[in-house]
Amino acid sequence: MAHHQVLIIGGGNAGLSIASKLLIQNSSLKIGIIEPSEKHYYQPAWTLVGGGAFDVNDTIKNEKDYIPKGTTWIKDAVATFEPEQNQVTCKSGDKHTYDYMVVVPGIQLDWHKVKGLKETLGKNGVTSNYLVEYAPYTWELLRNFKGGNAIFTNPNTPIKCGGAPQKIMYLAGDYILKNGLQPKTNIHFYSGGGIIFGVKKYADVLNQVIARYKIKTHFKHNLVEINGPNKKAFFEDENGNRIEQAFDFIHVTPPQSAPDFIKNSPLAVPGNAFGWVDVDKFTTQHNRYPNIFSCGDASSLPNAKTGAAIRKQAPVLVENLLHIMKGGKLDAKYTGYGSCPLVTGYGKLVLAEFDYDNNPMETFPFNQGKERWSMWMLKTKVLPWMYWNRILQGRA
Ligand SMILES: Cc1cc2nc3c(=O)[nH]c(=O)nc-3n(C[C@H](O)[C@H](O)[C@H](O)COP(=O)(O)OP(=O)(O)OC[C@H]3O[C@@H](n4cnc5c(N)ncnc54)[C@H](O)[C@@H]3O)c2cc1C
Repeated sequence: MAHHQVLIIGGGNAGLSIASKLLIQNSSLKIGIIEPSEKHYYQPAWTLVGGGAFDVNDTIKNEKDYIPKGTTWIKDAVATFEPEQNQVTCKSGDKHTYDYMVVVPGIQLDWHKVKGLKETLGKNGVTSNYLVEYAPYTWELLRNFKGGNAIFTNPNTPIKCGGAPQKIMYLAGDYILKNGLQPKTNIHFYSGGGIIFGVKKYADVLNQVIARYKIKTHFKHNLVEINGPNKKAFFEDENGNRIEQAFDFIHVTPPQSAPDFIKNSPLAVPGNAFGWVDVDKFTTQHNRYPNIFSCGDASSLPNAKTGAAIRKQAPVLVENLLHIMKGGKLDAKYTGYGSCPLVTGYGKLVLAEFDYDNNPMETFPFNQGKERWSMWMLKTKVLPWMYWNRILQGRA
């Protein structure tokens, strides 16, 4: 049994940024990070990998090279939480105790919720940028595409990067247009949601993009089954009707929820099927266990689940955690800032930034509701560099 002043569950985007930021403020803290993976991934670039615009190898690095110096990496996975004893139990059977805990293990991809999907993923024209091993397959399918039905799905659950199901569709739409395939192609967007984007300013430009690529949208249609060998996808609409759609190429965004070990723990929002870690939406403190904090994809913070949002959540969490360690108050408040770099074609991007109430919260002194090459450069060059060199080090 090992004891840590601060125990962090998950060494992903949020976990490493928070550990680094804590150490910048107080280098004497004893921090343990429980993280099972040898590799660390820059997931936002998987969209670009799927579009043939980024090398997948540049999205994968060794976790050990990014674990902040001065912290202890516990290479294990948490299985259960015993918050009354300030303790966690890992898959190995080891137990760890803490004074304070930060729970940031990301989101779970629920492939099993779509019948036939797991069996056919990565073959038969069925792909997903949500897994590092299949993002290159998306590009393989696209560059071999000769026309037919190209289908893109978006589930009816919250997902990480709400824009990702559309971004790959717009890259494909641009590829199809530029290669003269539009006359013999049908692009369909099947979404479990009811609208293209929650912020009107950005929805307006996306609707123009959809018209440019001649995309047919079907809202409130949820993917329920895939038959890979027969190249058929089945959707359910809001009235429970079953719709059959033939495909030549299908990019699937899986249903998502909190990891099962969170869902089945006392930390989860009571009675909520998605099972997020139950935190206050402004302070990031757990609603029932004051020495526990969470943010990022696994948390109940009710906004876009993105790395961009974590950049604004992490400083709030760190400030509040350090305050209560000194017996102070939770002064820092998260505004709900979320951002989505909406790739709308090769060399084109709309940088959506907004708060909890879907009001735009833009960074740049120009209209971000326009497609821009400069924002494409931000996504393809600046942000990946910042991630590996500043964000994980707690310096951005
Ligand atoms: C295709 C795609 C496109 C995206 N595009 C963008 C974008 O353009 N912009 C943007 O800002 N964001 C984007 N995102 C989202 C972004 O990657 C996530 O929001 C971000 O990584 C979430 O950080 P996190 O720390 O909460 O989770 P993660 O970074 O996923 O890290 C979670 C960590 O917890 C670990 N873990 C899991 N289980 C356990 C356990 N039992 N015990 C201990 N540790 C555990 C995992 O191994 C992992 O390292 C995209 C994601 C995808 C998949």
